[in-house]
Amino acid sequence: CGIVAIVGKSPVADRLFDGLKRLEYRGYDSAGICTLKDEDFQRRRAEGKLGNLEQLLEEQPMQGEIGIAHTRWATHGAPVEKNAHPHIAGNVAIIHNGIIENFKSLREELVADGHEMQSDTDSEVVAHLVSRELEGGASPKDAVAAILSRLHGAFAMAFLFRDHDDLVIGARRGSPLTIGYGEGENYLGSDAIALAPWTQRIAYLDEGDWAVLTRETVQIYDADNQPVEREIVESGASA
Ligand code: GLU
Repeated sequence: CGIVAIVGKSPVADRLFDGLKRLEYRGYDSAGICTLKDEDFQRRRAEGKLGNLEQLLEEQPMQGEIGIAHTRWATHGAPVEKNAHPHIAGNVAIIHNGIIENFKSLREELVADGHEMQSDTDSEVVAHLVSRELEGGASPKDAVAAILSRLHGAFAMAFLFRDHDDLVIGARRGSPLTIGYGEGENYLGSDAIALAPWTQRIAYLDEGDWAVLTRETVQIYDADNQPVEREIVESGASA
């Protein structure tokens, strides 16, 4: 299972797919990509091997210079297209590796609040939690900060926001997540290998960290939502 995200200066769909290819060794049962173009999400998801997603991308090419991509290893919900990530709720799209242990109670709360679930995954509650904060007027950054403390379990996640063409947020607890620093672009990946074709300059997020990426900036926060610095190192991963 794996995560790749690009806040880029050129089309990202093919590059996101290549990133997923580089994470294939981690194992998966389905995959998906979401990009943003003209304030609209474009999403392609396919069960099975990455070849299925590749075919879909050929038939239905994706636009956009920012996007998130995911390989899923199902823990909750069958490995079928509707359960493949990214999951969208309102103005946010999310990808998640790991398990949200308290998803049942969160799901009940959200459904009681009028949210309609589209999948059988634990992950989808995260999209709805963020969406609810956005609807309440929170900024993307404040929305993510607000909901992270409600999640029990392990995760690496990335968030894409419909109204924000220059913003990806990532978060990690218990699952790895790496930031890649580019030239006028920045990246997230499950590991440095995924990012190797684009950059060797990386920072590993610490346990509980989350990060706000734009094309020109990266700001990392710790589990107490305090700004922190994490060392940028040369990954040495081969492209
Ligand atoms: N628990 C999530 C799901 O089943 C994420 C699985 C993963 O790590 O890929 O959809």
